[in-house]
Amino acid sequence: AQKYVVKRNFQGVPKRDDFEIVEYELPPLKDGEVIVKTEWISVDPYLRSFNSMYTPPFDQFSFQIGEVIESKNSKYSVGAKVVSHIGWCDYGIVKMFDDPLTRPYKLPDLKGLPTSYGIGAVGMPGATAYFGFLEICKPKSGETVVVTGAAGAVGSIVGQIAKIKGCRVIGFAGSDEKVKWLENELGFDNAFNYKTVDIMKALEEAAPKGVDCYFDNVGGEISSRVVRQMNTFGRVACCGSISTYNDDPDKMSKATVLQSYLVTKQIKIEGFAVSRWANEWPKAFDQLVKWIETGQLKIREHITEGFDKLFDAFLGVLAGENIGKAVVKVYQ
Ligand code: NDP
Repeated sequence: AQKYVVKRNFQGVPKRDDFEIVEYELPPLKDGEVIVKTEWISVDPYLRSFNSMYTPPFDQFSFQIGEVIESKNSKYSVGAKVVSHIGWCDYGIVKMFDDPLTRPYKLPDLKGLPTSYGIGAVGMPGATAYFGFLEICKPKSGETVVVTGAAGAVGSIVGQIAKIKGCRVIGFAGSDEKVKWLENELGFDNAFNYKTVDIMKALEEAAPKGVDCYFDNVGGEISSRVVRQMNTFGRVACCGSISTYNDDPDKMSKATVLQSYLVTKQIKIEGFAVSRWANEWPKAFDQLVKWIETGQLKIREHITEGFDKLFDAFLGVLAGENIGKAVVKVYQ
């Protein structure tokens, strides 16, 4: 079998030689374990920060979907599909344990939707959009919602859930192609390329009555501006801060604008990890599948083929090459 191992902690943008691919022998199976052949691996922004924000080693990260080819667990027979967290490997051993974020589980019933949705819209990113937005922003019909990272895996779902809930939705994304997709295909009321517009002006025009909910995927400068346009008692769900992931934490600027407006507008701002709702993910998955089936939720994937392309796919996510969920096809 093969797996990627990290040779050194990332400095700035991750580099190819921060990783190496090693051949390894799978050890004999123990009771309760299964061997999977990897079909799909998810490449996610949070992998960038594994060495600072999270403690387990890299080879325990990344959701993947694999087919059981050998089993010593009566709940997972050969042929079953498992969503697990066993790093970037083409074959691997899945151990059963109960950590809320990383515990393995059976691929949910996708009702004929593509298997890869199990690490996207009907996986961790879908649950992030569902719970982060509904539980923290608590949107009401008629309210105005801003989403950053709007054309990504999480953001594109948040914006569409906001439309389903009767909100006015404004998205920010990093290319004109993404902006067109959000407005023309996903039904966002307005979308802007944050790299080319005056963000304050765009917000004033698109949200003249102010912003009630902000789903923040990117952090940094743009977030200070959105908060400035928010209404009193607005709600901010802090989901991610990808604009700062490659920065040295000691050199980051201080978000003074953000802080002063939080006080005067009495804004509620809450960070979250989707593992908070781990026991309720199946409920979100059922609803997300239904919305996809009825056409209320449209899903796009950015598929890279080949185990040897995982690093490029990961860098691509950090560089904004993906529209929708970035996944890597390994075996099928
Ligand atoms: P995406 O599919 O959105 O991919 C990342 C996107 O971020 C890129 O496509 C790029 O799009 C954008 N981006 C990259 N650099 C910058 C930058 N400097 N400023 C603004 N945007 C940037 O990833 P996900 O949907 O998987 O994740 C979105 C966010 O949610 C991330 O911050 C992630 O860490 C977080 N997250 C948090 C979870 C939680 O439990 N709290 C769980 C899952 C994800 P563009 O072209 O628009 O720049």
